[in-house]
Amino acid sequence: MANAGETQTGEVGGEHFPVSADDYAEACDSNLGWCRACQAFEGECVEPDAEGYSCPCCNGTNTVYGAEQALLLGLIDIDEGE
Ligand SMILES: [Zn+2]
Repeated sequence: MANAGETQTGEVGGEHFPVSADDYAEACDSNLGWCRACQAFEGECVEPDAEGYSCPCCNGTNTVYGAEQALLLGLIDIDEGE
């Protein structure tokens, strides 16, 4: 059972979506919201600590969170990219 374990497949669990530090900074800067349905930054004028906004992209309700809030809740993860 010698497993080098060097390969990380990264479990696809739906949450903890990796975003780059740049994208996160831009989202904070521009008040973009994170849609957990789209798994992308959607929406405008979303306060960083907002919760439960509607998504203009997928028409989801209560799916958009502020960038800081999304990070806090573990919906996204900052991918430092080494
Ligand atoms: Zn959406």
